[in-house]
Amino acid sequence: MAVMRSASETPVPSQPLGKVYLVGAGPGDPDLITVKGRRFLEKADVVVYDYLASPKLLRYAPAEAEQVYVGKKGHGLHAKTQDEINQLLVERARAGKRVVRLKGGDPFIFGRGGEEIEELVAAGIPFEVVPGVTSATAAATYAGVPITHRRYTSSVAFVTGHEDPTKPGSNVDWRKIATGVGTLVFYMGIKNLPHITRKLIDNGRDPATPVVVVRWASTPDQRSVEGTLADIAEVVRKHDIRPPALVVVGEVVRLRRLINWFEKRPLFGKTVMVTRTREQASELVAGLEEAGAACIEWPTIAIGPPDSWEPLDQALAELHAFDWILFTSINAIRCFFGRLRDKGLDSRILAGCRIGVVGSTTADVLRGYGIEADLLPGEFTGEGLAAALVEQGVEGQRILLPRAKKAREILPETLRQAGAEVVIAPVYQNVRPSARSEELRQLFLERRVDVLTFTSSSTVTNFCHMLGIEDAAARRELLDTVAVACIGPVTARTARRLGLPVHVQPETYTIPALIDRIIGHFAG
Ligand code: SAH
Repeated sequence: MAVMRSASETPVPSQPLGKVYLVGAGPGDPDLITVKGRRFLEKADVVVYDYLASPKLLRYAPAEAEQVYVGKKGHGLHAKTQDEINQLLVERARAGKRVVRLKGGDPFIFGRGGEEIEELVAAGIPFEVVPGVTSATAAATYAGVPITHRRYTSSVAFVTGHEDPTKPGSNVDWRKIATGVGTLVFYMGIKNLPHITRKLIDNGRDPATPVVVVRWASTPDQRSVEGTLADIAEVVRKHDIRPPALVVVGEVVRLRRLINWFEKRPLFGKTVMVTRTREQASELVAGLEEAGAACIEWPTIAIGPPDSWEPLDQALAELHAFDWILFTSINAIRCFFGRLRDKGLDSRILAGCRIGVVGSTTADVLRGYGIEADLLPGEFTGEGLAAALVEQGVEGQRILLPRAKKAREILPETLRQAGAEVVIAPVYQNVRPSARSEELRQLFLERRVDVLTFTSSSTVTNFCHMLGIEDAAARRELLDTVAVACIGPVTARTARRLGLPVHVQPETYTIPALIDRIIGHFAG
């Protein structure tokens, strides 16, 4: 791929034209982009996006791709006019670039996608269009409303609410749509909602028709309110529902009582801060999001190589002389195997050793390298692993411990006391990301975080350091309304020592158990 791109990065006059991909980004949840849309994004030289396309989608674009935010019409410094956007697409494509134009929902549903393509056609630029999940179907689905249903309706209309229906020259035939269509979905209808509902009622629609208004559909910020044609405008005003929101009108809205699955998920409306390394956060984040939570990833640890590979390389050279290799973290496993790979080795070199792991997660990760652990302790801690080994008898045995540069000494100490020879080989070290204290404190001052998760002692110490508040009492006060969740007793002890009360702590020290306990905390 790198080779292909370098050719297109340096346009010369005879440069072949690039291409514009008009891609529907889906309604908000970044996972609702199509496979095809994502594939084009992964190969983009330029990404042009606006405020309705989830910024999370940008992580699929190559790091070196140019990203252009064209904003929201009439808002902000970075907003571009439609002419400027069209010009940008044409210019970049002429320079030979693969341009992905990401548009919220579906590009051809009230997205001015048609106008952009007309410009491309006029300029002779090749293009492709990828449809997207439009926000109307997403909003209905995520509000628990099947947009059509045999018992209630067999037609649906997408209508723009942007035009003031009281002004002459409207494109919408209110008389026909009021009673001629079962389900009506209005885009951009919040400002004009009083006029829209009036117009429908005046043209014969039953004022008791149920209506749901959904804001930021399919995202963790989704909010919905319900009413009838007669009172929904007032409900929206009272709850201060602002754009972007959709208005779904029709008998199908009654089914919401039965089907409202998204907002009923146990952690819906809760925001959880995840302090693990980026590499490790995904399992926790995915589990929390599935339970309905919004996650803020705030890594308190980054992983760097050890100062020296010498101790490990030496151990690898005489691995046959070791009885055991112990892994006490996922990072240790990944970095250990990373080093093997760099040296042109693989798992076969471990054939003569028995392997112990600290818990079920490390066991799973090890399995990913094709190796079943020989020893998994009953209690998933360093102490647990030490006890399990001592019980087997380690007198005179040689044990290799690839681990972080700085780690708790309890495991090697216990093993040495029991007569083992322990070789510690640092395979990574934890480094602290830059603090951004002000920004972090602000999140808590604004009460934006409901749950704070810690998955190791160093996440707690680093978090407190990044917070930049020396005084434990002041720290506790800032985190006053936050539920602190710790994966196990060691982490919890560190948290308490630093003045943080611990509200959630699972019995087994695993990520799924932690998620379960967080859910339990709010259920109880
Ligand atoms: N092409 C887009 C629509 C763009 S018009 C699509 O197919 O969805 C912009 C309007 O879309 C907003 O004013 C709002 O009414 C609606 N909209 C887009 N995303 C939304 C979301 N996540 N939740 C609620 N409404 C949304």
